[in-house]
Amino acid sequence: MKKQIEKNIKSLLHSIWKSGDMAISWTKTSIPGKRTPFFIKNKNQIDQLVFDTFCAVSLATYLTEFNRKEILPEDFKGKLHITCKPCDARSVMQLFSDMQVSEELVNLIVIQCDGIADESKLTKIMSGYVSNIEEENDRFICKGIGGTEKSVPIRDCWLDKCSDGKNCDLPYYYGYYFVGNETEYRKRISNLLHTKTDLVQDTMSPKELKKLVNKELSSCIRCNACRNVCPACFCSDRCVFEQPKVNVKYLDSEDASKNNILYHMIRFNHVAPNCTGCGECERACPMSIPLSMFYKYFNRLMWEEFEYKPGKTNSERQKLLSYHLGEDLV
Ligand code: SF4
Ligand code: SF4
Ligand code: SF4
Repeated sequence: MKKQIEKNIKSLLHSIWKSGDMAISWTKTSIPGKRTPFFIKNKNQIDQLVFDTFCAVSLATYLTEFNRKEILPEDFKGKLHITCKPCDARSVMQLFSDMQVSEELVNLIVIQCDGIADESKLTKIMSGYVSNIEEENDRFICKGIGGTEKSVPIRDCWLDKCSDGKNCDLPYYYGYYFVGNETEYRKRISNLLHTKTDLVQDTMSPKELKKLVNKELSSCIRCNACRNVCPACFCSDRCVFEQPKVNVKYLDSEDASKNNILYHMIRFNHVAPNCTGCGECERACPMSIPLSMFYKYFNRLMWEEFEYKPGKTNSERQKLLSYHLGEDLV
């Protein structure tokens, strides 16, 4: 099925490609289970793209670089095609509605997704070393140390966000191509159980919340990976952490162990209104800090307060940017 979907993505790209176009997709690396972003700059490269159970990276983040012309080839004069899982497509929607990239320039290709594997979970199951992975129906057949073989259910390796379906909704947007069977996809996600309990609960007292924040964030080394990978974090060199002129001691990454809470508080405040819950921050964190638990909490607050779900459409403005002069506090 995945092979057929990959074939269909390639056929679609071949059929819509015009001279001067570019595409962002995934390709293989030499490490089993690792896929990497792939920038397709001419039609001959289309057949090197890959779509399979390991395409975890969200490519939406690259749209902001595209907007700043950082990844554009000199002769770009066409459209940018981007392949997305449905959860990534929601981040693209949010970038459209935040006016970070022009819809006119982008061709969104949404792919039927049955769950994506977290390669690090598989490596853990295989005690740290995997030399080969084959996919057979709903299992991975892996070779580990000394050629030992193990059959692992794919479901046991899913990214956390795949297990409850909360991120799988398709956006309300008519401008995308869908590769796969959309009816089948919608049926599958409606059957997923939305029962997983969020770890940060409204019933927590401020003291309990503070304790949880301190505990989880104490190992942060301020590497900025969570910021750099986040599609909702697009200030780039205007970011407060990149301002050499602003000499704020508490923002100094040298001082990380004491002040990383402030770093995260600033990030929480900046991206809570447009965080789509994509989980990329947590996936990229070298210290395995469960950042999603906090962003899920903000997502929930956004919904309870404003009935607003970031990434749902290309046009609804994020709530903390939509106000009328004369409203309280404006
Ligand atoms: S959250 Fe849903 S759409 Fe996203 S990778 Fe997981 S299963 Fe696919
Ligand atoms: S990726 Fe992890 S360690 Fe790096 S700044 Fe973010 S939370 Fe801290
Ligand atoms: S904060 Fe994390 S979950 Fe939210 S949009 Fe950014 S990377 Fe995704």
